[in-house]
Amino acid sequence: MAQSTLATPAEAVEDPWLNAQRQYDLAADLLGLKPGVRAFLREAQRQLIVAFPVKMDDGSFRMFEGYRVQHNLARGPAKGGIRYHPGVTLSEVKALAMWMTWKCAAAGIPFGGAKGGVVVDPKKLSMGELERLTRRYAAEISVLIGPDRDIPAPDVNTTPQVMAWIMDTMSMSAGHSIPAAVTGKPIAVGGSQGRNEATGRGVAVVALRACTHLGRDPRQSTVAVQGFGNAGSIAARLMEADGFRIHAVSDTGGAIWSDKPLTVLEVLEHKRTTGSVAGFPGTRAISNAELLAAPVDVLVPAALENQITGRNAGAIQASLILEAANGPVSPEADEILAQKGVTLVPDIIANAGGVTVSYFEWVQDLQSFFWEEKEINERLEHIMNASFEASWEASQRLGVSLRLGAYTIAVQRVAEATSARGIYP
Ligand code: NAD
Repeated sequence: MAQSTLATPAEAVEDPWLNAQRQYDLAADLLGLKPGVRAFLREAQRQLIVAFPVKMDDGSFRMFEGYRVQHNLARGPAKGGIRYHPGVTLSEVKALAMWMTWKCAAAGIPFGGAKGGVVVDPKKLSMGELERLTRRYAAEISVLIGPDRDIPAPDVNTTPQVMAWIMDTMSMSAGHSIPAAVTGKPIAVGGSQGRNEATGRGVAVVALRACTHLGRDPRQSTVAVQGFGNAGSIAARLMEADGFRIHAVSDTGGAIWSDKPLTVLEVLEHKRTTGSVAGFPGTRAISNAELLAAPVDVLVPAALENQITGRNAGAIQASLILEAANGPVSPEADEILAQKGVTLVPDIIANAGGVTVSYFEWVQDLQSFFWEEKEINERLEHIMNASFEASWEASQRLGVSLRLGAYTIAVQRVAEATSARGIYP
């Protein structure tokens, strides 16, 4: 089985926060933002670092570190996922929070941006330990979160069950149920139809839209997907349903290539039973570097930040990249890919399906009135298409990349809201 070679030392030192600020600077330059607003939006408004004990199954206590960052609150309550990963850093969480601000603004959703994370490998915890860690972390960040202040959601290694524990922890402390405190919950406790698939569904919607603009037939388009979790596996399944041919996928257990298009449901079943896509019958093990540079038309990075950098961007063969992950392509790689003529649909557009249906979930919880999946998917599709089209139009009009086109729209909206509110006091 090929070992995943992600995050080699040189890539690991790439700082997501500096990358996020560099992406923002390009948009701020283009928009000619006034210095005061420009400086304000360049920083994260609130950063909370928590250190907390968790009782382990053997009776011992272990300390964990976690974060919750709110980048900007000008357009509404903060919104953003919670990540459990051994590599979580404050810099990463700050970057993810800033990206959430732009993503909500680009989609026209009335939220600011936030993100949270705990430095932990949840696969090494029992269910009981995971629950106690989640409840204690939720209690620690409860000074910031709440249905009208900051609403968490799932991200890497966090699940609907984790969201249910957070919702229950907040509800227990308030003495009544607060379903709108988190999104991405199980349906049984106020979750929304379609939320689990929403990020992947949004990726599939923009995949079709990009093909239309590029004059391509999805049925003639081959695809590689890095990361086979919530975002990646569902994007793969729905893109396959639209006719795309999925030839390579990967997860932390390894990457696989198939000369024949994969049947995604079969790969999902293999992962469910073995824990990884690796070893799926009829496929060849490849390295992560080979997956990213696979001879395909469409590449969907759906794992972590900084996977395509100045070091490997030159090797990319795909001519269309859909950023299902947040921040998978560094600013250096952006330049190299642009020179190669690659079309890149940026994270703040491509993976906005998750936060869009999270918004629907929050609205439904506040109203205690739940919608049918068909309505949710139609509304999602409408928002994804509209934000893609607006970014495409801006990039054409300004003669810039789709990322910069999307950023100009998003940053402009946040700057306008900030200016309209004025600087307190
Ligand atoms: P997940 O935990 O469900 O899945 C992550 C997947 O990536 C897993 O298959 C894991 O094995 C794989 N992965 C992790 N490290 C890897 C590595 N080193 N090499 C290869 N594969 C690796 O997480 P997710 O929710 O699907 O999130 C994935 C990305 O999508 C993240 O960047 C996240 O911020 C972004 N995203 C998620 C959502 C959402 O609603 N879940 C919304 C927007 C963006």
